[in-house]
This record gives sequence, structure tokens and C-alpha cells, in this order.
Amino acid sequence: MPELPEVETVKRTLQQLVVGKTIEEITVHWGKIIKKPDDVAEFCHLLIGQTIRDIERRAKFLKIILDDYVIVSHLRMEGRYGLHQKDEEIDKHTHVIFSFTDGTELRYRDVRKFGTMHLFLKGEENTNLPLAQLGMEPFDEKFKPSTLKKLFKDTNRKVKVTLLDQSKLVGLGNIYVDEALFRSGIYPERLGKDLSDKELKKLHQEIKDTLQEAIDLGGSSVKSYVNGQGEMGMFQQQLYVYGRKGEPCKVCGTPIEKTVVGGRGTHYCSKCQKKK
Ligand SMILES: [Zn+2]
Repeated sequence: MPELPEVETVKRTLQQLVVGKTIEEITVHWGKIIKKPDDVAEFCHLLIGQTIRDIERRAKFLKIILDDYVIVSHLRMEGRYGLHQKDEEIDKHTHVIFSFTDGTELRYRDVRKFGTMHLFLKGEENTNLPLAQLGMEPFDEKFKPSTLKKLFKDTNRKVKVTLLDQSKLVGLGNIYVDEALFRSGIYPERLGKDLSDKELKKLHQEIKDTLQEAIDLGGSSVKSYVNGQGEMGMFQQQLYVYGRKGEPCKVCGTPIEKTVVGGRGTHYCSKCQKKK
């Protein structure tokens, strides 16, 4: 599953590939990807003649900004976009094809078919599901150490559980939350409300730095979510704890341990991450 840095990478790649292109035709081979409107034919009809003006990201959703509409797209497990020439062979896992007036096509391919697309009139996308009720973006300038303090206050949840809650803060999936907690020296099972101001400040900084470094390196996935650019996720080599059970901690040499927190596999260093 792509996390925020991978989706940000897809966004930037798509910006280079499709902004300015005008839709001539849409072909949908698997209608269940289209969640809104109910009628797939309407989805196709409304988009004809629309030009892609920008690609944005909100949490792990891509927003394809058109003249009058916005498509909110989630890749889920296996979804990916690729730019092709019209005469190129169509892969059997290709479910949605945006054909452009310049003879190219943006093809959405999804082996598991879990991905989703919602079409909104421009301006209505943020106040409706699936984007409504999403928490703060970690790169929003309003995100401060005090934001974390507020999220952790009045709850007995473990720090990792709150950080994974997308209605509080978006973009931290299992990989990046483990990495940010390691880099902050915080044991994942501690209660958020017990963190000191100094720890909150460090955690706030490490959340941003971890995600930013992953974005700079093209995400942590070894798969490329957009073809044609071939960016490999180099961040995987930078991981301190995630997926490194039994391997020596890169800081102190202690073998990395794995436990379960909030139902999720959790990697940590018992020496670098203080339990109190
Ligand atoms: Zn260590």
C-alpha cells in the first residue's frame, strides 16, 4: 500500500506527465472503481472536454483538478497510473482509460481492483467523503508540537495508535510511524499524554523530517506507482527499524525487536527507545 511519500511522488510525476492535457474520451472496464457518480456513463460523459489543470494530494488521495470537476483517486493496494500512446497494447488489469486529444492516454491499472475514484464539482470535494473528516496534514504550517499535545490529551491511547489515526493526523502509515518514533527515541507503546514537551517537539520534527526525506528519495516502496519515470524508492535503504527485526540497530547495535501495537506489527530498538 502506498504511503504519503509514495503518493506525493505519484502526484509530482503526474504533474509532469498530464497537466495541460484535454480529455477526449473515457473508457471504464471495471465500473466498481467509480464510486461517484453512481452512473459510470455519467462519469465518462461529464469529463469529456475537460483539461487537467493540476494534480494535488490530500492525505493518501490524489486530486485530479479539471476545469469544472475534481477526481479524488485512491490507489489502495495496487493501483497505479501510466501514460501510454493510444496504439499501445492495453494490459488486462487496466480499468479506466483517460484518452487525451494529443493521442496519449492515462491508464489506471489495478490488479486487486480496490482503488477508488470519486468525481465532484470543483470545491465540493473537501467537504464530502472520502476527504471530509481527514486530520491535519503534517506539512500544513498549522501543524505544531502543540497540535500533537492536543491530540494526545484526554486519551489513554498509545502514541503509535493516535499517530496512525487518519482523522487526527494524516499520512503516517505503519512504516513512517515506526521510523519517526525511533528517530524521536520514543517507545511506541507509551501513552501519548505522558510525553514531555521536549519529546513532543522532537516527535513533531521527526515526523516532518522522516516524511520529507522519503519524498526526496521517492518513497520507500520498491514498486513504481507511475510508469515511464522508473523511480525506485531509495528511502527503503534508509529505514532504521521497519522490516529489520533481529538486525542490529544502526545507532547502538542492539537487535531490532518486533511487537504488536494496536493490531499493527511494530518495530523498535529496546535501547534507543525509552519506555519511560
Ligand atoms: Zn538502538
